[in-house]
Amino acid sequence: MSNLPPEHAPLVQFAVQDDCLQVGGMALTRLAQRVGATPFYAYDRQKISERIALLRRHLPAGVLLHYAMKANPMPALVQHVAGLVDGMDVASAGEMRVALDTVLPPDSISFAGPGKKEHELRSAIAAGVILNLESAREMEAVAKLGTSLGITPKVAIRVNPDFALKSSGMKMGGGPQPFGIDAECVPDVLRRLAMLDLDFMGFHIFSGSQNLNAAALQEAHAKSVQLGIRLAEYLPSAPRWLNIGGGLGVPYFPGERALDLAAVGENLQRLMPEVQRQLPDARIAIELGRYIVAEAGIYVCRVLERKISRGQVFLITDGGLHHHLAASGNFGQVIRKNYPVIIANKVRGAEREVVSVTGPLCTPLDILADQLSMAKASAGDLVVVLQSGAYGLSASPVAFLGHPAPIEVLV
Ligand SMILES: *Cc1c(COP(=O)(O)O)cnc(C)c1O
Repeated sequence: MSNLPPEHAPLVQFAVQDDCLQVGGMALTRLAQRVGATPFYAYDRQKISERIALLRRHLPAGVLLHYAMKANPMPALVQHVAGLVDGMDVASAGEMRVALDTVLPPDSISFAGPGKKEHELRSAIAAGVILNLESAREMEAVAKLGTSLGITPKVAIRVNPDFALKSSGMKMGGGPQPFGIDAECVPDVLRRLAMLDLDFMGFHIFSGSQNLNAAALQEAHAKSVQLGIRLAEYLPSAPRWLNIGGGLGVPYFPGERALDLAAVGENLQRLMPEVQRQLPDARIAIELGRYIVAEAGIYVCRVLERKISRGQVFLITDGGLHHHLAASGNFGQVIRKNYPVIIANKVRGAEREVVSVTGPLCTPLDILADQLSMAKASAGDLVVVLQSGAYGLSASPVAFLGHPAPIEVLV
């Protein structure tokens, strides 16, 4: 055992040339000139395509791959992803509009989320999108709206499972939840569903997010499949799909390492024969947000000032928590940890030093890196927060303190 502090996972997704980060096939300094202003987010389309290809190699052939748009709803990125996946999961009418602008057929789009509003339900029914029902009340409302529109709504039941995804960054199933219908109540709901004019597609079981532990994911996938099979006994007709959620994580913090995707894929492969025997008409779907886009995206800002306060070095930048809440440690983290942050035009650098990277906001929360070792930088250098393609801009309080919003580019 070494006593060295844990380090970030090695930078492998982007090349480095002449000590400068390469994104979208060009030096980041050049891309910054092209964008014309900092801060900005850049998403590398090639890296997204490669990630989806990697998933296709590891997932069993029949498994449908869906993109969960809440991870990154930038329309150009969504258009790119739409050409490579089998479906999309949306969680608002706004996201649904973006998904309906793509080539994907409406019945490959599913709409989840508690508290869907009546106008959202109405548009989804008219669009032919699958509504993931989150409560018995919502089921009744959807059936009534369908009758008034003269359209049979396509629905799935979101099940709050009777298990949780272990060692997950965010639990979204198991125990009491605002999401979905408790598994033990689903049989009654299905009995009622059979009396309503609803086109039943299948089950949606989502147990958690940001998981790097392959064994925990294997267990959750096996339990999701078993639960789906068990609940299918109460159905009037065979389910057409079983969405087993997502939860595949990416390494953000020191000590974290990439998920063993092969182990997750092999486990799904082992589960397939049982699914085919018990639910012959059903396709398995997996819905991923973060895993598809997080590592393909960066947040770029510029050093305005290198300031020393009582011996500690601060790099004050033009970017901060108003653009990237998650990197500041204020998006669901219990203990603040550093995202991987580098100086893009001096990745290794001639000299290194331990610095804190802060933004222009007048609050001590505006930290992009706290006492992190990086190349010695000065005003004008480009600071890059890696692993920023998911839950970045759209999950940040852009209006806080009245600075302009960052630019987003897909390269
Ligand atoms: C957020 C969410 C996802 C995506 O989670 P990731 O961790 O980004 O993969 C998938 N499905 C549902 C229902 C969600 O709410």
